[in-house]
Amino acid sequence: MTASYDPNNIFAKILRGEMPCHKVYEDDVALAFMDIMPRVDSHVLVIPKVPARGLLDMPADALGPYMQRVQKVAAAVKAATGAEGLTIQQFNESAGGQVVFHIHFHILPRFEGVALRPHTGQMEKPEVLAANAKKISAVLA
Ligand code: AMP
Repeated sequence: MTASYDPNNIFAKILRGEMPCHKVYEDDVALAFMDIMPRVDSHVLVIPKVPARGLLDMPADALGPYMQRVQKVAAAVKAATGAEGLTIQQFNESAGGQVVFHIHFHILPRFEGVALRPHTGQMEKPEVLAANAKKISAVLA
């Protein structure tokens, strides 16, 4: 059985403005911000505003609007970085590699021959995250 949604998870706190983030995009459906331990430069997370742990407890009627935002932010990441490709990831439960239990899609701009760094590896400098967020949000403005 899947555990229930914990409203005190870190992304819920970011949504409520109780924790800071380097914001890239926000509307009534979703929030996008920089991953603090990026696996590549300009690694962005897109989270829905509805509370859900993962794909399986996400209200079905909220999935379409959320995925439209994932697509919109992914296009902006690609345009802002000049990426040759994108890796999009979404993990479910600890066994599936999930660490934060509010559903999120990872958007990873990719270049031929550039490998991903480890998942939840090193913290990025705030000024680098801020500069990358600015570059991507400018495409979305
Ligand atoms: P996962 O749940 O496995 O998809 O991984 C959670 C992701 O959230 C990791 O890539 C972390 O680097 C990232 N992360 C954790 N805390 C924060 C935070 N406060 N702000 C931005 N990203 C975070």
